[in-house]
Amino acid sequence: MERKPRRPTRVVEVGWVKIGGGHPVVVQSMTSTDTRDVSSTVAQIRELEEEGCEVIRVAVPDEAAAQALREIIPQIGIPLIADIHFDWRLAVAALKSGAHGLRINPGNIKGRENVRRVIEAARRAGACVRIGVNAGSLEKDLLKKYGWPRPEALVESALRWLDFIVGDLGYENVKVSLKSSDVWHTVAAYREFSRRSDFPVHLGVTEAGGLLPGTVKSALALGILLSEGIGDTLRVSLTAPPVEEVRVAWEILKATGVRRRGVEIVACPTCGRCEIDLIGLYQEVERRLRGLKAPIKVAVMGCVVNGPGEAREADVGLAGGKGVGLIFRRGRIVRKVREEELLSAFLEEVERFLAEREKE
Ligand code: SF4
Repeated sequence: MERKPRRPTRVVEVGWVKIGGGHPVVVQSMTSTDTRDVSSTVAQIRELEEEGCEVIRVAVPDEAAAQALREIIPQIGIPLIADIHFDWRLAVAALKSGAHGLRINPGNIKGRENVRRVIEAARRAGACVRIGVNAGSLEKDLLKKYGWPRPEALVESALRWLDFIVGDLGYENVKVSLKSSDVWHTVAAYREFSRRSDFPVHLGVTEAGGLLPGTVKSALALGILLSEGIGDTLRVSLTAPPVEEVRVAWEILKATGVRRRGVEIVACPTCGRCEIDLIGLYQEVERRLRGLKAPIKVAVMGCVVNGPGEAREADVGLAGGKGVGLIFRRGRIVRKVREEELLSAFLEEVERFLAEREKE
């Protein structure tokens, strides 16, 4: 099955990052620190940047958090989005502190007049506004109309707010999310919205769960949507440290072929032919290459019989054997080393490969 081309959407701007209109799908995450604790928040954002986070969202639950943004923003290298619930004044304060974007659920800002105030402040600041529709906090009249937060209800809520913000207020630096904790409702909502609007969408499955179930749910929903060309930015929501969200987001983008960054590892599942500690070796390779930003595909294979052949597409690979190991490039064996030198020889070969490619 071929991945479909990206759906054409409008371009919006979160600070200096462009979203939509064929620009690369942007990876976002959200801090888990208390925003008022400036040093912890900055440290976490820097860690996330290093891992490949391109836009960060922070909770702004009170005035002190809004003020803390003044100190946080100058110390980070990616645009910041303030997450606002209920109080329009906090949105205005966050924008005055330099936030590059807002995430609001207009339904809980209570009243069109307050949403208008938020939009006017965003217009003055040139900030992007995400209309974050959420199955858990849908407007009462839509719940009544549809009986439960059906995908159609999420879409109607998003279109209604777009109509007000874009149609009535004339503000277009807007993107949309339609989140549900159910994979199929999420997929259906984004599909339907994308059929009816060309505003860029922020993908995510809300409250997806811990690292394993959350990764599976997110990979399923986001994988389907990305393969259909839907999605301009995304966040994987996990009950886990946010750095894991960024890692999983990149793995989804790499697996769908939407973007490339850093290492992609092909590894055999091991079988009765394997005579080395392949799982330990794999973990070490993953740890040592984690910081790489340049894209490279490597293979970690259990045996010399099938390893190189099975991993022909990898740029550099290793295959274990009895007392010896092989290093290969694109399936061609280039070195034979003693088993205890296998890891270091492999890492040398990766460095050599990257240096040579740089020169090309
Ligand atoms: Fe088994 Fe070798 Fe294939 Fe790994 S590469 S699964 S050890 S045959």
